[in-house]
Amino acid sequence: MSDREKAVVLLSGGLDSTTTLAIARSQGFRTFALSFNYGQQHSIELASAANVAKSLGTEQHLIIAVDLRAIGGSALTAQIPVPKERGAEEIASGIPVTYVPARNTIFLSLGLAWAEVLGAQDIFIGVNALDYSGYPDCRPEFIEAFERLAGLATKAGVEGLPRLRIHTPLIAMTKAEIIRTGLSLGIDYSLTHSCYDPVAEGFACGKCDSCLLRLKGFAEAGASDPLPYATH
Ligand SMILES: [Zn+2]
Repeated sequence: MSDREKAVVLLSGGLDSTTTLAIARSQGFRTFALSFNYGQQHSIELASAANVAKSLGTEQHLIIAVDLRAIGGSALTAQIPVPKERGAEEIASGIPVTYVPARNTIFLSLGLAWAEVLGAQDIFIGVNALDYSGYPDCRPEFIEAFERLAGLATKAGVEGLPRLRIHTPLIAMTKAEIIRTGLSLGIDYSLTHSCYDPVAEGFACGKCDSCLLRLKGFAEAGASDPLPYATH
């Protein structure tokens, strides 16, 4: 691989996508970060994405507005309470209400469109099949199917140019492994944001699934989370 190849990196400003961006850079890609203002209940996420993109030195950071509140159906896009203080087993079973219907399909489709315009053959997405086994669009089968779709859907695919690759460097990693990798790449995790339901002052709640998985990951990695929490 040439070290000047472009890659689109989906960036939410969370721990996983930030680590994914750092990995793409460490592999020599020129990175183009893509975030979405999809009507998520809090805008802290987008501020984090902007700070991360700047800190890690992406060539461009694009924020596309796709208001998924018009569809709703998730605790992140409708007035549905975010579950709190669930145990590890409960988190791992079933599809939680924080699942946003078809979100990764929508985001990858827009990432594919941008990649085609940029002439990029690589898209990075920080999906993880271990901690979020309940999300159907985080499974390897979904990613493989999307790669096949990309070959059929794009001009590059028709013209026989190299096939678009979807990179999922975190897919088989534990949260602790993701954090250790990120720390070894010099990520400042205080710039990231993971909470599904931050309190009014912007602090992470410390009780939602995302906060609990993040805190458990830091504990297992033997590191401390630099984020301030409302409760612990
Ligand atoms: Zn939280």
